[in-house]
Order: sequence, then structure tokens, then C-alpha cells
Amino acid sequence: MRFDIITIFPHIIESYLNESIIKRAIKNGLLDVRVHNLRDFTEDKHHKVDDRPFGGGPGMVMKIEPIIKVLETTFGGETSESMSEVSPPKVLLVLLSAKGKQFDSKQAARFSKKYDRIFLIAGRYEGIDARLKKVLQDSGFRIQEVSIGPYVLTGGELPALVILDAVSRHIPGVLGKEESLEEKRHGIGVPTYTRPEVFEYKGKEYRVPKVLLSGDHKRVQDWRKSKK
Ligand code: SAM
Repeated sequence: MRFDIITIFPHIIESYLNESIIKRAIKNGLLDVRVHNLRDFTEDKHHKVDDRPFGGGPGMVMKIEPIIKVLETTFGGETSESMSEVSPPKVLLVLLSAKGKQFDSKQAARFSKKYDRIFLIAGRYEGIDARLKKVLQDSGFRIQEVSIGPYVLTGGELPALVILDAVSRHIPGVLGKEESLEEKRHGIGVPTYTRPEVFEYKGKEYRVPKVLLSGDHKRVQDWRKSKK
């Protein structure tokens, strides 16, 4: 599966890609992640990606042109018409937005099955010029506005990584046997424990539930189910 991430802070993304499970998945060819520095797609000498908002206000708004340029370059076209000609059905463009549809585990699984390429567009400042969505729809792209939660972050880089990570876990082979999908094994958030059996702190003892020490697989399964 391929991810393309459009950002003005590529190092934030790259540092995460260079660790642990995602790093291994990239090395093993299960994931192909391309990070596009938006400033490389500007034409002025200051590499300007933002401008003042129409109607006034203190913040800046991200411009459409450099984002379109990334897409045209990636899809090999010069104009939005040629972008639409090469826009295959299994490509999804995700506009990261605090007011988008809230992302969840089901959607992560669905994205991994339905698409073979996901573009994640990370906003900054006051967000991206609202016309981008329409422009991309008119060019034939499947596009979704996605939020990772009901709060406003300073930028779309963490949301992009959250989606990349959550979707990647559903790609066969990305998780090793011992890391296999927690939600399939015994459900999200079931409590887990490790050694020591008794943890002593400030005169108090904190014990592992007895059932987990029983060696009775059936009872352990039932207990885990009850904790879902
Ligand atoms: N005024 C904008 C709004 O109300 O959506 C907030 C812009 S926010 C400071 C800058 C960027 O961070 C957004 O364009 C979006 O890409 C990203 N962002 C912030 N919160 C997010 C969230 N909960 N989910 C997804 N992306 C988010």
C-alpha cells in the first residue's frame, strides 16, 4: 500500500517512519510512503505556501496551487483534466480537518481494504483554502475530510501519522505474530499485565488478577471477554 503525505514539515513525518513497526514494514516492501515537502512545489523565491485570508482575520490560509502541483507531479499530468484521466478508483485523498468525519478503527480497516493508495494532506495555520475540496472533486478524485478527534491541533502531521499507523496495522504482514491485531485477539483496551506478580509500592501490594495466573486458557478467554 502506498501513502503520500503532503506537509510543510516533512521531518515530523520522517522521524516517525524511521522507527519500529512502520520502519520494518517499509523495509519489507509492505508500505511505500512518500513525503512531499509542499515548499518544493512553490514558484516564488520565498517558497510561500500561505496567504492572508479574504474577509480579514489574524491567521494565514494555505494556498491551493502548491498542493495541486504535488498532485499533478505525482500523477504525471500538467492540468487538472489530465489528473482526472489518471485518477484510479483505488486512490483516496484525505483532507485532514478538525471538522471532518471522525476517524475510527472500522474506518482504518475499511481504508486498508478499499484503497491501494492514500494521499494525506496536512494543513497548518488557519487551514487550507476551502475551494481545494471542490477543485479535487471536479478533477475526479475520491476525497474525504477526516478528523482524528474532537479537538483542534496545530497541524495535520500528527493526524496523518495516526491514520497511516492505524491503517497499516490492517495490512497483512505489517504486524508480527506477537503484535497481531489486538482488536481481533481480545478486544480493544482489555487490561494486560506482566511481571512481577505482586508489585509493591509505598507499602501497598498491587496484584495481577488470579485468573491470569491459573493456566486455564478457557477461563482466561472468558475473563478477557468480560473486560471488553
Ligand atoms: N481553523 C481550522 C479549522 O477550524 O479547521 C483549524 C486549523 S488547524 C490550526 C491546522 C490544521 O491542523 C488543519 O488544517 C488540519 O489539517 C489539522 N488539524 C487540526 N486538528 C485536527 C483534527 N482534530 N483532525 C485532523 N486534522 C486536524
